[in-house]
Amino acid sequence: MTETTQTETLGFQTEVKQLLQLMIHSLYSNKEIFLRELVSNAADAADKLRFEALTQPALLEGDNDLRVRVSFDADAHTVTIEDNGIGMSREEAIAHLGTIAKSGTGDFLRQLSGDQKKDSQLIGQFGVGFYSAFIVADQVDVYSRRAGAPAAEGVRWSSRGEGEFDIAAVEKAERGTRIVLHLKDGEHDFADGWRLRSILKKYSDHIGLPIQMPKEAAPAEGETEAPALEWETVNRASALWTRPRTEVTDAEYTEFYKHVAHDHSDPLAWSHNKVEGKLEYTSLLYVPGRAPFDLYHREAPKGLKLYVQRVFVMDQAEQFLPLYLRFIKGVVDSNDLSLNVSREILQSGPVIDSMKSALTKRSLDMLEKLSKDKPEQYATFWKEFGQVLKEGPAEDYNNREKVAGLLRFASTRGEGDAQTVSLADYLGRMAEGQDKIYYLTGESYTQVRNSPHLEVFRKKGIEVLLLTDRIDEWLMGYLTDFDGKRFVDIARGDLDLGALESEEDKQAQESAAKDKQALVERLKTALGDDVAEVRVSHRLTDSPAVLAIGEQDLGLQMRQILEASGQKVPDSKPVLEINPGHPLIAKLDAEADGERFDDLGRVLFDQAALAAGDSLKDPGAYVARLNKLLLELSA
Ligand code: ADP
Ligand code: MG
Repeated sequence: MTETTQTETLGFQTEVKQLLQLMIHSLYSNKEIFLRELVSNAADAADKLRFEALTQPALLEGDNDLRVRVSFDADAHTVTIEDNGIGMSREEAIAHLGTIAKSGTGDFLRQLSGDQKKDSQLIGQFGVGFYSAFIVADQVDVYSRRAGAPAAEGVRWSSRGEGEFDIAAVEKAERGTRIVLHLKDGEHDFADGWRLRSILKKYSDHIGLPIQMPKEAAPAEGETEAPALEWETVNRASALWTRPRTEVTDAEYTEFYKHVAHDHSDPLAWSHNKVEGKLEYTSLLYVPGRAPFDLYHREAPKGLKLYVQRVFVMDQAEQFLPLYLRFIKGVVDSNDLSLNVSREILQSGPVIDSMKSALTKRSLDMLEKLSKDKPEQYATFWKEFGQVLKEGPAEDYNNREKVAGLLRFASTRGEGDAQTVSLADYLGRMAEGQDKIYYLTGESYTQVRNSPHLEVFRKKGIEVLLLTDRIDEWLMGYLTDFDGKRFVDIARGDLDLGALESEEDKQAQESAAKDKQALVERLKTALGDDVAEVRVSHRLTDSPAVLAIGEQDLGLQMRQILEASGQKVPDSKPVLEINPGHPLIAKLDAEADGERFDDLGRVLFDQAALAAGDSLKDPGAYVARLNKLLLELSA
């Protein structure tokens, strides 16, 4: 290998520099993972070569025994990882080893606090990758040549992991990538056959590609020259998903997850299935343990790794799962698709459609099982991905009941604002005579928890779900019933508690309504166009008044979402309900002074809007009226 003299020095992208810092300082207790990452990349490179060689067999250059070799030099303190996969051109080396292409990386890294403990949590959300080499090495040399390119087009990438890297043209006869790690002082122990083997066994046994190391033969007696290097395979080298479930350990499933998902944290659950019959495929699906930093970025990677008859075909095949399950990671290996399948072909067709619906069901079943068998881990899942799952009922009408069963809510019987209550929990403790699922949406937990709408439910001991996530009102637009019970928004319409109200309750309401008929009419006149209606309430025990929204009108959350996206919000007016038993209402009823009646009526109305979390159209007028009334009080 001869090097040309021209070496160019380039700076790392700022994000790479930050990531390197984060990596070196946060993964010091788990240094050996560098080997897992580099072997994982070698396996990906072999997969890509096999795939490209399907249409261009010449890329194999007559050598189709793909493998990765790990060797070391204890005297020179180096560890070398060499593959004969796809390799990199000069441009690819600069782009892939000098920049991070993920969208949103900059924003993510700006969250770093400088507090090592906190920051090291963040690395799990990011993935580790190639740069982990710098955890143990203070210089990394990468020699690579892309398959099919002439030997003269080799490239050497070299860096000390500080601000920059050198790039030079080199002659490289063998296709693929060789990475030489110059171990830091204090890390020289890694240049040891036994150590490297045990790390490979621990992290990379599941890799489908043979991993080879030099055979450690004791020199034969009397022999002075070192014997020729012999390589032996040190891993199992069969694709993990092709093995029977019973023969794969949890540790192997976990390590395989890290390889396919490019994630550093452990998965919460997995589901491994072989399907035979009309369609034949194997799937291995995982629920990650934490949300990636770019979960909500449109271009964030999603989808499964697709293999066709064990040959890798593409990453991020998005067509096998709906969007609301975009956090699921894993592999699908089909016997029915053609090896030259493209993203366009994957768009639809009977094979894809039926695989998608089966894999969707498998994913939902896996989540259901997790929720039953490991509620604590399910709580972690819900915290990380619950918001995404809430997109389900709108996107996947057929599975909405199944998805609804997986949702978790805060409730008046829950533990504070924690979303822990399932619909099954709710149904299981419904009151006698209750046949509906009651819920209330709003801005924040504190606001809904203190809403006047809850008063009658508190009095009767009926549980109400408290929904305060931004998309909850939208979600409830798609959930009309669960297990035959209708959902009812308690802030809407004329609340009908059905059998939950006794005959006496109803009679008392009717007579109160009659009794306050005149007051209702006076209030209607005073409030004019601001209300759709005024009526006597049976929702209240403590508050004087409350606003109810029309059955078909947009609620506050939806109005705010539309406003924020610059859309016109249709006009709608609330209904003012008054509490016939409240002293303020009695006072209002007795008020003979027309002006004072108007002021008091307006204040009640504005207060009801405030309690609903809404803002006032004319806050100044409200304050002025209230102050006037306060002064009269003290006069
Ligand atoms: P990831 O594997 O998640 O893409 P890495 O940081 O591990 O991220 O690797 C960055 C990129 O560098 C890879 O996507 C690949 O394009 C390139 N790369 C790394 N190692 C190799 C290799 N051995 N052969 C070919 N390309 C490689
Ligand atoms: Mg990688």
